[in-house]
Amino acid sequence: MVNKTAIDCDVVVVGAGLVGLTAVVALAQQGRRVVLVDAKPKPVYQMQDWDARIYALTPATESFLKTIGVWDAVDLSRINPVHAMTLWHVDGDSSQQNPLNLLAEDANITQLACIAESSNLLQALWQQIDALAVPVVMGVPSHDLQYTDDKIVLVLDNHASIAARLLVAADSAHSFVRQHLAISTKVKDFNQLALVANYQIEKPHGNIAYQWFSSHETLALLPLPNQHVSMVWALARADAERLLMLKGAELALTLEKQIDYLLGSLKPVSQTFSFELRQVTARALIANRVVLIGDAAHQVHPMAGQGANLGFRDVIGLVDLIAHTHALQDIGDQAFLRGYERARKTDIAGMNVLTSGLDSLFATDSPLLKRMTAVGMRQLSNLPRLKAFLIKQATA
Ligand SMILES: Cc1cc2nc3c(=O)[nH]c(=O)nc-3n(C[C@H](O)[C@H](O)[C@H](O)COP(=O)(O)OP(=O)(O)OC[C@H]3O[C@@H](n4cnc5c(N)ncnc54)[C@H](O)[C@@H]3O)c2cc1C
Repeated sequence: MVNKTAIDCDVVVVGAGLVGLTAVVALAQQGRRVVLVDAKPKPVYQMQDWDARIYALTPATESFLKTIGVWDAVDLSRINPVHAMTLWHVDGDSSQQNPLNLLAEDANITQLACIAESSNLLQALWQQIDALAVPVVMGVPSHDLQYTDDKIVLVLDNHASIAARLLVAADSAHSFVRQHLAISTKVKDFNQLALVANYQIEKPHGNIAYQWFSSHETLALLPLPNQHVSMVWALARADAERLLMLKGAELALTLEKQIDYLLGSLKPVSQTFSFELRQVTARALIANRVVLIGDAAHQVHPMAGQGANLGFRDVIGLVDLIAHTHALQDIGDQAFLRGYERARKTDIAGMNVLTSGLDSLFATDSPLLKRMTAVGMRQLSNLPRLKAFLIKQATA
C-alpha cells in the first residue's frame, strides 16, 4: 500500500555521493522538482586537514561543474593542476629507464586534469543544494519501491514515502535500488586493495602525476598544493594487508624506497585508508521509471582515475536527454530512458576494457608481450600524434 501522505516530486535522487549530488544540482537547475534521499546523515565539512579521498578530475568534468555553478564554491587554493603525467612500467624490481611522459602541451591544452579533495567538492555541491532549497531526507535508508499508474514510490525505513516520475539511483556500488529491482551485475574481483594516504614531500612534484604499472599492481602519486601528494596504491590483497599493519612513518619509508626516492623523504599527513577493488557493471542501466548512475551503474578500477568522471558523464547524459524533451514528455517513460542507456553503454564498456586490459597487460607472463609493452612505452614517447590522441582520450 502506498502511503497517502507521500511527498510528490518530478525526480527523487537516492544517494548523496559526488554523482548523486551533482545530478540533484543539475536537475534542480532545469526547473525539475527534485528530492534527495540518503541513508547517512548530512555531513559537516571541516576543511583543515588534507582529505585522503582525492579525485583526478578531467577538464570536461571541471567544465561541467563550472557550468552548473558548483566550481564557484570550490576552495581553489586546495586544487592542484596536473600539467604532465609520467608513467613507468615496472618489470620485477626495476623500473624502465625511459618512462612515458605525457604533457598537456603535447595536446595543446593547459592541463591534463586537476586534483581535488572529496570534501572540497562535496561541500561545494551542498552549498548549491542549500541555495536551490532542494528538499532533502538524510539519515534514513531506503526500504521499498512501489508503483502507481504514473509514479514510482520510494518508501523509506521510517515509513515516509516519496512519489516521483523518475528515480535516479546513485546509491553506490552496493545499490539498494539496483538489488531491489533485481538488476543483475557483471562482477570482476581484482583481489586487490587500494591504499590511500597523503604525504608531505621533500622535493617539488612539479605538478606531475606519477604512476607505476606492474603485475596486478599500480601506484599513483597525485600532486596536491603546498608540497603534498596523494598516494593511491592498488596491490594484491595480502601485500596490501601487510602494508596496512605498518605505522604511518614505516609505510612512508617503504613508499620512498618503492619510488626510488624520487620525491625525497615523505611525511604522512593523513591516516591510511583501504578500499576493495572490484569491477561491477549493471547489466541494465534503466528499469521502469529508474535510471542508474555513478557507481550504482558501474564501479571501475581506480588505476585510470576515471570512476567519478564516468559518473559525471552519466549526469551530463541524463540532463542533456531531459533538457531536450518537450513539455509533455513523461521523463520516467522507459522508451524515453532507453536514449540514456544507449548513450552511456559504450563509454562504460570502454572504461571497463581499458582498466581490466591494463591490469592484465602489465601482468602478462609472456616474454614477447612483456618486451612489446616495454618497447611500446618507449616508442610512444617518440610519437607525438599518438601521444596527443591518448591525452585527448584521457581528458575527454
Ligand atoms: C581508491 C580510489 C581512488 C579513486 N580515485 C578516483 C579518481 O581519481 N578519479 C575518479 O574519477 N574516480 C576515482 N575513484 C572512483 C570514485 O571514488 C567513485 O566512482 C565515486 O566516488 C562514485 O560516486 P557515487 O556518488 O556514484 O557513489 P558513492 O560515493 O558511493 O555514494 C553513494 C551514496 O549513496 C548512499 N547510499 C547507499 N545506500 C543507500 C540506501 N540504501 N539508501 C539511501 N542512500 C544510500 C551512500 O550513503 C552514499 O552517500 C576512486 C575510487 C577509489 C576506491
